[in-house]
Amino acid sequence: MLTPGVINKFSGSLAAGMVLARFAVMSAQSGVMPIGIFEQPEPVVAPWTAVECCPVCGSQAAAANALLPDRSYVFEKQAIPMPDSGIAVSRCGVCTAYYKSKVPSPAFLTRIFGKYAEARWKSSDDLSPEIRTVRRLWGADRLDVLDVGAADGALLGAHAATGLKGRRSAFDVMRYSGLERHLEGEFIEGFLDDPLSAWSGEPYDVVTLFDVVEHFYRPQDAFANLRTLTRPGGLVLIETGNSESLCPRRFGIDQWWYVRLLEHHVFWSQQSLAHIAAAHGFKVVYWKEIQHKSRRHRSLVRVASDALKSALYYVAGRQYVSIAQALGGRGNQPWFPLVRDHFQACLSRT
Ligand SMILES: [Zn+2]
Repeated sequence: MLTPGVINKFSGSLAAGMVLARFAVMSAQSGVMPIGIFEQPEPVVAPWTAVECCPVCGSQAAAANALLPDRSYVFEKQAIPMPDSGIAVSRCGVCTAYYKSKVPSPAFLTRIFGKYAEARWKSSDDLSPEIRTVRRLWGADRLDVLDVGAADGALLGAHAATGLKGRRSAFDVMRYSGLERHLEGEFIEGFLDDPLSAWSGEPYDVVTLFDVVEHFYRPQDAFANLRTLTRPGGLVLIETGNSESLCPRRFGIDQWWYVRLLEHHVFWSQQSLAHIAAAHGFKVVYWKEIQHKSRRHRSLVRVASDALKSALYYVAGRQYVSIAQALGGRGNQPWFPLVRDHFQACLSRT
């Protein structure tokens, strides 16, 4: 699930975030992001902001840097040139989070992606594993749940279908059509790393963030808000990419498709999540490496195709892109079958 939102309130930070998580999934499904040869993309100049320190812990001690190979990013018919000096991905020497050295403004991302949000997004993923995880961790049939990046409320609807009792509320930067039928509580509008807008003031038993935290510009502000939104003893369930998973470890963080998405700014591991959790009065009580929900039900044919591409990638390395383009394909890294490059984590609020 993603976050982002209302199209005229995009000054905030998660801006890109919420609307954008959707596009991350779509990009992933197409086999991984930009570099492709598209039909006459229109050049669009992005305003870039330098990131001077780790957004997770504030440290300036970067332990390593890698330069993204991309010179531009293409979305729909828009080509966005990267900064002349490129974008580096740094690994924090303190908390181990990875983060980009330059990020586009929230308003820019909102403008680029926001207009496609309603039309392109489809809640077709199977959310039953997420629902089972929430219910198992909470252990009761009644709970008040807040879904951050709720979009059209598919996750809330899946909760309702299992007979869940309690408030089912949504937090997003825009109010998607279709949300109302799944809402049994409040809608909180805004970006999680901005000051909270008007809300009930009644904290939740469980707050869920699926495909959201990688979009944060200010994770510390977001986690401070999460503490406010979660009642003592309550849970926060997070799903995001795992920067310590096979592909970034084996082939380099700068080659990972997930990092090369324009709307992703910070990349988490168990250690970096535990670091920010402890700083805001949370404790990690559950951790599991998973496949992204969009990858769980691939046909055998698609899995076989992915396996062949993965074998080529192993052999060709960084020449893979050129070979793929010569064969009429696009993308910078194939999907590795069965590889779990995301994680689910549950935080308990102390
Ligand atoms: Zn850090």
